Amino acid sequence: MKKRLLILGGTTEATQLAAKASELPNLDVISSLAGRTQQPHYPLGDLRIGGFGGAVGLFHYLQDQQIDLLIDATHPFAAQISWNAATAADRASIPRLAIVRPVWETEPHWIEVESNEAAAGLLPEIAKRIFLTIGRQELATFAHLTQLWFLMRMIDPPVAGTPIPPGEVLLARPPFSVAQERSWMQSYNIQAIVSKNSGGVATVAKLVAARELELPVVMVQRPTMPEGASVSDVDAAWLWINQQL
Ligand code: NAP
Repeated sequence: MKKRLLILGGTTEATQLAAKASELPNLDVISSLAGRTQQPHYPLGDLRIGGFGGAVGLFHYLQDQQIDLLIDATHPFAAQISWNAATAADRASIPRLAIVRPVWETEPHWIEVESNEAAAGLLPEIAKRIFLTIGRQELATFAHLTQLWFLMRMIDPPVAGTPIPPGEVLLARPPFSVAQERSWMQSYNIQAIVSKNSGGVATVAKLVAARELELPVVMVQRPTMPEGASVSDVDAAWLWINQQL
C-alpha cells in the first residue's frame, strides 16, 4: 500500500529530497512551504503553501491528509515550525526525521552571539559599515542603529512598513561566489559581517571572503531544536524513508 510523506520545506535539501522521494512508486510526496519567498524553487510532487495554524493545526493536517511519515527539512533558524512538527508528530504517532545541516565551524575572527538582539548590541563597538546577511525577517532588530550604515542582503524586499536601519537593500538569491562576495564587501567598504550560522554551501562564500579580507564576522548561533531522529543530509534522509516503507 502507498504511504504518504510530508516534507516541511523551504530549503535546498527539502527540494532535493522531494525530487528523489517522488521517484518511489509506493510513496506520495507532499511538500509544505511557509510562503515566505515570492518565487520559490517549487519541489516535485504535491505542494501546499502557508502556515498550518500552530502545532494543533499541523496535527489536524497530518490526520486529515493521512500522513504516514514526516520529514522536517526546514531552515536551521525556523525553530517554531520544528517544535510544532515535533509536538504534532508525537501526538499523531507519526515517525519524524529532521534534516539538520552541519554548522559552519567557528573561526578565530568570529564573534559568536546568541541572537540578533545580541548582534545589534555589539555592532556599534566594532564597525560603522556592516554587511547584514540575515535575510529580511529580523531587520527591525537593527533599525535603532541609526549611527551605522548597513548593506542588507535578501531574496525579496522587506515587507512594507517594516522598520529597517539606514543603508541599502541588496536583492540577490544564493548561491554566491567568493569573488562576488569579495566585490560587494570591497565596493561598499564593509567593515564587519553579520551572519546566522545556517551552514551549507549556498551562502558559505561570504565567510571565505571575510576571512580573506580579515573582516570580523558576528555569527548568530542556532536556536534550540526539539530532540529526535535527525540526519545531516539528503542521502541519509532517503535511506530513512526507505527503511520506513
Ligand atoms: P518559523 O519561525 O519556524 O515559523 C513561523 C511559522 O511559519 C510557523 O509557525 C508556521 O506557521 C509557518 N511555517 C514555517 N515553515 C513552514 C513550512 N515549511 N510549511 C508551513 N508553514 C510553515 O520559521 P520562519 O518564520 O519561516 O523563519 C524563521 C527563520 O528561519 C528566519 O530567520 C528565516 O530567515 C529563516 N529561514 C526560513 C526559511 C523558510 O523557508 N521558512 C528559509 C530560509 C530561512 P503555523 O504556526 O501557522 O503553522
